[in-house]
Amino acid sequence: MAYTITDIAELVRYHLVLSEPDDERADANLAQLVQQVEQMASRPLWREASWVFCDRCGCSVDTDLIHPDGHHYADDGDFYCADCRGMEAGGIPGQC
Ligand SMILES: [Zn+2]
Repeated sequence: MAYTITDIAELVRYHLVLSEPDDERADANLAQLVQQVEQMASRPLWREASWVFCDRCGCSVDTDLIHPDGHHYADDGDFYCADCRGMEAGGIPGQC
């Protein structure tokens, strides 16, 4: 690799940010750069995170961590984090 990512980031900072007279134009340059860089990727670089909240303790759980068979959901539709689900089953409560 002829240039490291740090080298290229410094080029971006110098040529697209510091060379502009105001933040607005620098931000416009960065937005355009990001758009072009994203097109180089083989898959989306970002995805929206989604969360659900435990109906017992209120902690948030990333939906990626919820078992696909839906066993974190009670019959009435309430959602329980792993610890609270364990309490339902007679376990010892812990941290979420
Ligand atoms: Zn909980």
